[in-house]
Amino acid sequence: MAELRTTVLGYPRIGPRRELKRALENYWSGRGTQAELLEVAAKLRADTWRELSRSLDSVPGNTFSFYDQVLDTAVLFDAVPRRFRELGLSELDTYFAMARGRDGAAAMELTKWFDTNYHYLVPELSADTKFALVGDKPVQEFTEALAQGVHTRPVLVGPATFLLLSKGTEPGFAPITLIDQLVDRYAELLGKLADAGAEWVQLDEHAYAADRGEAELDALRRAYDKLGKLANRPRLLVAGGYGDLGPALAVLAESPVEAIAVDLVSAPDTVRRIAGLTSLRDKTLLAGVVDGRNVWRTDLRAAASVCASLLGSVGSLTVSSSTSLLHVPYDLDAETGLEPEVRGRLAFARQKLAEIATLGRALHAGASIQNGAVPAAGSRDEQVRARIAALTPQHRRRVDYSERAAAQQERLGLPPLATTTIGSFPQTTEIRKARAEVRAGRLSEQDYQQRMREEIERVIRLQEEIGLDVLVHGEPERNDMVQYFAENLVGFAATELGWVQSYGSRCVRPPILHGDVSRRNPITVEWTAHAQSLTSKPVKGMLTGPVTILAWSFVRDDQPLADTAQQVALALRDEITDLEAAGIGVVQVDEPALRELLPLRAEDRPAYLEWAVESFRLATSGAASATQIHTHLCYSEFGDVIGAIDGLDADVTTIEAARSRMEVLDDLRAIGFRRGVGPGVYDIHSPLVPAEHEVTELLRAAVQAVPAERLWVNPDCGLKTRDYAEVEPALRALVGSARALRG
Ligand code: GLN
Ligand code: ZN
Repeated sequence: MAELRTTVLGYPRIGPRRELKRALENYWSGRGTQAELLEVAAKLRADTWRELSRSLDSVPGNTFSFYDQVLDTAVLFDAVPRRFRELGLSELDTYFAMARGRDGAAAMELTKWFDTNYHYLVPELSADTKFALVGDKPVQEFTEALAQGVHTRPVLVGPATFLLLSKGTEPGFAPITLIDQLVDRYAELLGKLADAGAEWVQLDEHAYAADRGEAELDALRRAYDKLGKLANRPRLLVAGGYGDLGPALAVLAESPVEAIAVDLVSAPDTVRRIAGLTSLRDKTLLAGVVDGRNVWRTDLRAAASVCASLLGSVGSLTVSSSTSLLHVPYDLDAETGLEPEVRGRLAFARQKLAEIATLGRALHAGASIQNGAVPAAGSRDEQVRARIAALTPQHRRRVDYSERAAAQQERLGLPPLATTTIGSFPQTTEIRKARAEVRAGRLSEQDYQQRMREEIERVIRLQEEIGLDVLVHGEPERNDMVQYFAENLVGFAATELGWVQSYGSRCVRPPILHGDVSRRNPITVEWTAHAQSLTSKPVKGMLTGPVTILAWSFVRDDQPLADTAQQVALALRDEITDLEAAGIGVVQVDEPALRELLPLRAEDRPAYLEWAVESFRLATSGAASATQIHTHLCYSEFGDVIGAIDGLDADVTTIEAARSRMEVLDDLRAIGFRRGVGPGVYDIHSPLVPAEHEVTELLRAAVQAVPAERLWVNPDCGLKTRDYAEVEPALRALVGSARALRG
């Protein structure tokens, strides 16, 4: 039996050069054949197995996916909603139809994978769901790897987690009630894997990193009692990542499974609980000491001592990553432009394999740790630190909202049901081309600036002609709302190939926030002032808030997130001061990711919301009373953060609401929200153009909840991804409806 000394819980699969992305998109567009796609996929799998088997003695298998591992699991057990079966497509195309929608069959819902930036497809289950083991992907990939000489440990989404991540298609139905039926199908699968020769199987039960009730813990207990008692099965490893397993750790410790993986990076306190669980003494523990979600080098000596301290409490110990490495880029060696000081602190997936191998040797062969110096801390900027030390509560408070509202109304003179947009206008091919050309040096900086100014003028004229009340410059100069600021602030680095999968073929390249953050020069002022110089209507300045900048970056882990957020906030605060000095009277600070960083466990939420809200206030509270501060939030569930939205103390909050038919207004009313609010009346995620009467219907519902003086009329989100052919008529409908209702 292979010894399990070093491993990772999973690995990236999009390809070091995003090979899978290209192959997928070629196939979808008809430019590539299915055979070509399958070939790319097989090569990526082979490369991954070879790479992993070089450094690890247990190689995770089944980590490849054409789109998403939760979707793979749904298809494996035949949980394919009827609307996709009826399309009569091939197996592969049915799978892609579930992910992307097709011929009137709407795609399955996409949602965040725990508190990461990866998104999975939400299975749709009902009381009538009958699972059947119809697929054999895990077995096939096991056999395929074996034929290449690599014995893998197939990784599966665990049955309890699969159900907890699913949604019921009828009200009141809880998918977890299907656990016994589903576990029987997993039992079949385990039998097949055993027959194929698999020694170990990994079942990911990450859903237990969130708060779970008795029934859910009981489902876990029943599942692993049953699977553990099977006569014909591989050894079972149950993995908990993305936080503390909480009470589920004891449940698993008591169960017949052979191994448990714990995330000691996000939940280091688990170490103490392990010592107290005597039933772990005859199990293998995977100590997740290498961060699967962030890009920093591991402090190897500290990690080794954590591992050593566990040795007496468990049967045997395996060095592992805290989560799958899916969330980090492939290879630091592929980067050529990083400053040595920053590079020296980084480890991407490949480098993490080497770290784990080193730790494994230290632990099991008594080898000493070479290059084990504690990674250097981020660069310090004493000026930034002195400013933060000198902050007082006064720095986070503006005068009362009602007083501000009066001053703003006097300055801006806006009508009731004022109309605006969220910031970006369509990013046309010409705009993208200009940005690419200036980057490649084929377009001079001066010509680029000129083209952007022309684009801004075009967008201003269009908004004037449509009759919007508060205008925007349209954000043509921004590739991405976070990357743009990262490129213009001190303390961030950019990568060339640091792509990570967000969903399907979509990847993001998060900036690396490595040192103290400060602002070299004004960032947005010139563009915004140019826009304002073209019109007598107010132009709204457009910034990305501290929480969102952190959420969409790899953030230094040598100080609390709250401290880093303060530094970003101060830079934004200065930017607002400069915008004001340039005559800008309205500034929007976007926080679409406010809910994204919300901790999985309720007990951790108040502390998070406190620093998140405080950083927003620090960024915005330097503004004069007559400067109107907007914020924008875009996710459809606000319940958990509704109090925090009020706490932001923004004058106007624009918020996604079209799809949920203005539901958020009831939540806001329930907490006595008294500020300006713009519930989106145009769903920009859909290519459909709303008719004026549809907008009016939504607005009629909204004025029931919010007086017209405080109600804003705007789309759900930025217009960046839409075409002008959709945006123009939609904005006309929006303005037309607001005007009609005013009368
Ligand atoms: N101002 C940004 C835009 O309009 C906001 C985007 C977002 O909320 N994600 O694109
Ligand atoms: Zn948005």
